[in-house]
Amino acid sequence: MTPPAGHCVLAVDVGGTTIKAAVVGEGGRFLSSLTVPSQADDDPVMAIRSLCRQLREHALSLGSTPVAIGVVTPGLVDERDGVVRYAANLRLRDVPLRALISGDLGLPVAIGHDARAAGVAEATAGAAVGLDNFLLLPLGTGIAAAVVVDGVPLAGATRAAGEVGHMPVYPGGEQCSCGQRGCLEVYASAGGMARRYARRVGGSEWDSQAIADAVGTDPDARVVWDDATRALGTALATLTLALDPARVVLGGGLAEAGALFLDPVREAMRDALAWRPPPPVLRSAFGAQAAQVGAAIMARRKAGLSVPDGWGAPDLVPSVAGELSH
Ligand SMILES: [Zn+2]
Repeated sequence: MTPPAGHCVLAVDVGGTTIKAAVVGEGGRFLSSLTVPSQADDDPVMAIRSLCRQLREHALSLGSTPVAIGVVTPGLVDERDGVVRYAANLRLRDVPLRALISGDLGLPVAIGHDARAAGVAEATAGAAVGLDNFLLLPLGTGIAAAVVVDGVPLAGATRAAGEVGHMPVYPGGEQCSCGQRGCLEVYASAGGMARRYARRVGGSEWDSQAIADAVGTDPDARVVWDDATRALGTALATLTLALDPARVVLGGGLAEAGALFLDPVREAMRDALAWRPPPPVLRSAFGAQAAQVGAAIMARRKAGLSVPDGWGAPDLVPSVAGELSH
């Protein structure tokens, strides 16, 4: 297909608390971005559809013609049928998102899983360019991985591949929201670390940055930090033995802590891998915007447009999405 001059794609990343949306130009530059609450009016599906319509109108007002839209969500996502099978945080079950949005906008729609989309972005223009085998773990409220094997982000038999946050790392350990005990994300997600630290010192305003700042002086922060890096290192060693990735990419605020976080994770991996070297562990190039860039790439592919290496590079993407602006 020949796209109209001045065309764009629309990219939407639906999270548990916010929906991040952007108008993305031909070269991968974010022309405009918007963040809204995902629970507005207590109806996430209406919030998503309304935002998509708003985004399309906004692109047209910028003089740019949308040719496709990519929408990514957490949970069990059937990319082929364009259906969100189950997303607990958003209370979505069997929502035919592609049919709904396509009906609203009259555009081709790609529906994807947020972590797998983030992996697509890192492979195209981020920390995994040129790699056919790698793992991406965004360490956010929970932990889900993009598991890329021979160039394909694995979805699995029931679309549940990559839910590594519920790998048991400390059998019989602390309670997880999933009903199991000792899961990886209890210890090594940003949300889990904040909860564990708050239980020790009181208060509720802690985030991973505050814990990172306190590691050098506060023994409670040190315990929470060490438990997290050991848990993650152990889980990554297990994944390495199963999948032999060329690289592990870590995203989210914890990875932004740099060597303070990455070095002990690398050490724990080395300790757990006696007979083989661990793969390099790097920080995500896109941070919190990776899934959104992945959604834009999926939209381009849906429109039949090429996606060259380097398309949507991190320097084209604003680090913080603000109100509608350009
Ligand atoms: Zn769990």
